Amino acid sequence: MDFTLDPTIDGVRRRVRAFVDERLIPLEADRANYDEHENVREDVLGTMRSAARAEGLWALQTPTSRGGGGLPFVGMAACYEEMNRSIFGPATFNSAAPDDGNMMVLERVGTEAQKTRWLQPIVDGRVRSAFVMTEPHPGGGSDPAMISTTAERRGGKWVVHGHKWFITGAAAAAHFLLIARTSGDARKGHTAFMFHRDAPGWRLLRRIPVMGPEEHGGHGELVLEGLEIPDEDRLLGVGDGLKVAQIRLGPARLTHCMRWLGLARRSLEIAGAYTGMRMSGGKRLAERESVQLLMGEAALQVRIGRLLVMHAASKLDAGAMARNELSMAKVHVADALHRAVDTAIQLNGGRGYSKDTPLEWIYRYARQARLVDGASEVHRMVIARHLSDSPEAFFDWNHLDPPKRPGGG
Ligand SMILES: Cc1cc2nc3c(=O)[nH]c(=O)nc-3n(C[C@H](O)[C@H](O)[C@H](O)COP(=O)(O)OP(=O)(O)OC[C@H]3O[C@@H](n4cnc5c(N)ncnc54)[C@H](O)[C@@H]3O)c2cc1C
Repeated sequence: MDFTLDPTIDGVRRRVRAFVDERLIPLEADRANYDEHENVREDVLGTMRSAARAEGLWALQTPTSRGGGGLPFVGMAACYEEMNRSIFGPATFNSAAPDDGNMMVLERVGTEAQKTRWLQPIVDGRVRSAFVMTEPHPGGGSDPAMISTTAERRGGKWVVHGHKWFITGAAAAAHFLLIARTSGDARKGHTAFMFHRDAPGWRLLRRIPVMGPEEHGGHGELVLEGLEIPDEDRLLGVGDGLKVAQIRLGPARLTHCMRWLGLARRSLEIAGAYTGMRMSGGKRLAERESVQLLMGEAALQVRIGRLLVMHAASKLDAGAMARNELSMAKVHVADALHRAVDTAIQLNGGRGYSKDTPLEWIYRYARQARLVDGASEVHRMVIARHLSDSPEAFFDWNHLDPPKRPGGG
């Protein structure tokens, strides 16, 4: 078993790291570089995006033929972690949610015409996108089978009625990936569609106020009231909506984890720098055993998270769905991020609670990690189900879910 990183991937990782250190982290200290939703200001982001693209560090998750970096999941894991050592990183490299997950799923399921129309502009950074699935009560949330937004076929088009919320990026997105109900069938009753911001028949009811800093475009509540979608903008077959959602959410969960590891590492870096210089009772804080125990435990959890992420990434690269591995990584890394940033705030004393460091930003942002793309409770249930379905497969070193098909993929 080889835990070393491929030299080519490591080369990209080093370049991402240098860019983050030299170009992005210095920007974070100046409040003037933030927008009113506590994210990087659009014009500052534009400049940084041009610089990242000029250095060939753009959309690393998409194929080189499309203008991206063509990295496998294992390579993404190494690079995304470096990216999100800055809170401005993922957006700069065009690897932020939800565009990141939307690009990956469109690459997988889109026809060539759909990729040209819906995917390429996101890869190019010309538009942003959103993933439209979650609904308020009594619609679908943790249980997507409860999705009640309907798409009704009328001739060559679909007419959509419904209500969605927590749609990240909705106020800034142009391309929307929608999951709607097209029949009463529990498993094959949903279908996935693309629609454009300018299509009539839907509106942004509000931008939901949240506790954390916001992605560009915030988290929107949408009303769909007669939105018309041509059949050519349907993804995969009628009834394949939950399949599309699974194909999207699996890798997108993992890229969340990759980024969160970066935020966790940055938190520990800030804590390490402060405890390394700050004196108390004639000793540096870092020399105190109680401080070492806190730092050691937080760092341990981050490293466990990285192993889980790399394991899931290698399974995805081998063609598996890796549902169990993705759930384990998601639960653990969400908690590891909390532990790291909470520890860092504690060890920075009053400074940790201030806005003089990005720790309070990361702390508020981190809270969503246990909720988005499946609450931790739901993922723990998935893990338990895999264990009870087949304890042997659960602990099998070479288990692939589903089994690898001849010819790979
Ligand atoms: C910041 C943020 C961004 C988001 N972005 C998007 C987006 O871009 N697109 C999108 O479609 N959605 C998005 N969501 C929605 C997110 O995916 C859902 O909030 C999440 O899946 C949980 O669904 P819910 O909110 O309906 O919770 P509910 O289903 O109402 O569940 C509430 C709580 O009950 C518990 N629970 C639920 N089911 C079970 C169970 N079976 N067993 C045990 N406990 C259970 C969990 O603790 C859960 O947190 C976002 C949410 C947040 C907070």
